[in-house]
Amino acid sequence: MRNQVQLITYVDRLAGGGMRALHGLLNSKLEGLFGGVHLLPFFYPIDGSDAGFDPIDHTQVDPRLGDWRGVQEIGSDYDLVADLIVNHVSSQSPQFADYSENGSASPYAGLFLSFDRVFPRGATEKDLLTIYRPRPGFPCTTYTLGTGEKQMLWTTFTPQQLDIDVYHPQGKAYLSAILERFQAAGVRLIRLDAVGYAIKKAGTSCFMIPETFSFIAELTREARGLGIDVLVEIHSYYLHQIEIAKRVDRVYDFALPPLVLHSLFSGDATALTQWLKISPRNAITVLDTHDGIGVIDVGRSPQGEPGLLKPEAIDRLVETIHERSGGQSRQATGAAASNLDLYQVNCTYYDALGRRDVEYLIARAVQFFAPGIPQVYYTGLLAGENDMELLAKSKVGRDINRHYYTAEEIDKNLARPVVKALAWLMKFRNQHQAFEGELEVANPSASQIVLTWSDGADSARLAVDFAGPKAMLAWTGENGDQVVDVDLELGKRIDY
Ligand code: BGC
Repeated sequence: MRNQVQLITYVDRLAGGGMRALHGLLNSKLEGLFGGVHLLPFFYPIDGSDAGFDPIDHTQVDPRLGDWRGVQEIGSDYDLVADLIVNHVSSQSPQFADYSENGSASPYAGLFLSFDRVFPRGATEKDLLTIYRPRPGFPCTTYTLGTGEKQMLWTTFTPQQLDIDVYHPQGKAYLSAILERFQAAGVRLIRLDAVGYAIKKAGTSCFMIPETFSFIAELTREARGLGIDVLVEIHSYYLHQIEIAKRVDRVYDFALPPLVLHSLFSGDATALTQWLKISPRNAITVLDTHDGIGVIDVGRSPQGEPGLLKPEAIDRLVETIHERSGGQSRQATGAAASNLDLYQVNCTYYDALGRRDVEYLIARAVQFFAPGIPQVYYTGLLAGENDMELLAKSKVGRDINRHYYTAEEIDKNLARPVVKALAWLMKFRNQHQAFEGELEVANPSASQIVLTWSDGADSARLAVDFAGPKAMLAWTGENGDQVVDVDLELGKRIDY
């Protein structure tokens, strides 16, 4: 995979049209900004109960977006990242319709995970309390099948998302068929969506247990055999992430977004420095995604071991996001707006920073200097603001950060100084040789962090003083050494 910035986007929310329109945009107005693209679920349908994370047919491109050929065309120019939704399938899928009608006589009966397959001898209160849930409620739903049988089925996320029995031959065949489709379309990296929940075992937390690792290893072997790498999507305690990273191709660095906010809000870079010294080198870094800003990633472990930030600092962080966004994020977060994950703050990253351009550019510069391959979410690319209208209409918290852009809005935003300066930083990250080398992390004082990448004689250094906050970028280049303020006079100097 190219060591370059990747775009995370819905196919229909950035370019308006489908695959071809997005491809056209990437090759024209966004040229040079991205080496890869994570296409958020583009399967049929894109507008179910979880914005595509509840596929009826995971092997079909939603016809409103185009077809597999269109996917393949994007893949011929960019490293393609796609979601493999391993944990569940839509309640409207043909497989579930058949099972609903015919019960245990259905050829798909093995695909769905019943409660008693996990707990054949029943479960105690303790068993149920041990199951890890980032949201309240019971992870199963009772369905009455056409045959009159009642069946309690695992539905970790919503009753419309039926968990798959990934150990059953039918579950395995289901996942293999998707992998093969992905390979044919040239997908380079699969994002194992919510994989931490895929394996359930009586008496355990049913989250990221040793058997989950074995399952990920097996799936990784299969994917690698098809020339596809694997990115594991898990929100968890930071030391667990480090352990997970040792055993998989790639992990997300979900600790980075709250730590950068914390540093900018408090003027203290200690926790950020501590993290960047040990964070996984095989990470995919993000500041924003289609989900909220996670905070459990910097919090305590379930056993109470200290996190990267103290509980009071996390509370302050969340409150400051609410303040800086003028209370908007509060309306979209937690129990306020039918959220799947109560521990994520829903807000655009730009609004979380109170629309402060310099701070936003400092945040992005830190991300681009952090270990791993950086991804930029489409609203982040355009330094986007919260979409309160969409939130009011859908009442879905995460929609606050899932705006539908028109072509005019894209043009207008690309011309903003903050977005031009961001584009400059992205090209710099994509092109400078130093990022092929090694990173050194230093903290001359509590408020400062210095990140230096070196590859032979090539080097690039970012020095941030969060007390300002201000930041300088220095690099070796054909025209000798250069130094600029990270805000690049907000886009006036764009001649890298
Ligand atoms: C995705 C979410 C989705 C959930 C269930 C995740 O972790 O990022 O957007 O709601 O999995 O599929």
